[in-house]
Amino acid sequence: MSVLKVVKYPSDILKQKLLPVENFNSDLKYIVRDMFETMYAHNGIGLAANQVGINKRIVVVDISLKGEKKVLPIALINPEITYQSKKKQIAEEGCLSFPGFFDKISRSVSIEVEYYDINGKKQKILAEGLLARVLQHEIDHINGITFIERMKINKQIKFYLMFWLGKYKF
Ligand code: ZN
Repeated sequence: MSVLKVVKYPSDILKQKLLPVENFNSDLKYIVRDMFETMYAHNGIGLAANQVGINKRIVVVDISLKGEKKVLPIALINPEITYQSKKKQIAEEGCLSFPGFFDKISRSVSIEVEYYDINGKKQKILAEGLLARVLQHEIDHINGITFIERMKINKQIKFYLMFWLGKYKF
């Protein structure tokens, strides 16, 4: 087991649309295990594979660290959002690739996600609230989108300016 190095903004791999997983083999299980370990080591509640430098559509989520004990940790392989509620909710988000930076982001309140589990079995999950938010954040990652691009445009401009001025050191 190993804690992997977390890729920080503005690394190129954070902008990549990742490749689908085709082989549900032991390599995949090792990657998922290391991703969980890395996420827990940084007190994260979600992690996408490109955040540890891996070009595969893999996401791990565990919101129990935020007190949601009833929701089990999940690994989602090749996840796709198949439904997003029109109703949105604004809440503060952070990201392990932007340590120390937080901002309010609008996300759908409830979503449906289809994915494969670690054994290659097709699964479907209906999520709402925090779990829906984390899944949207992580599925954005595997499509090369960070939460900065989900901020209001004036906030984005401010972020890029501040980053360029060296205010943020990730
Ligand atoms: Zn993130």
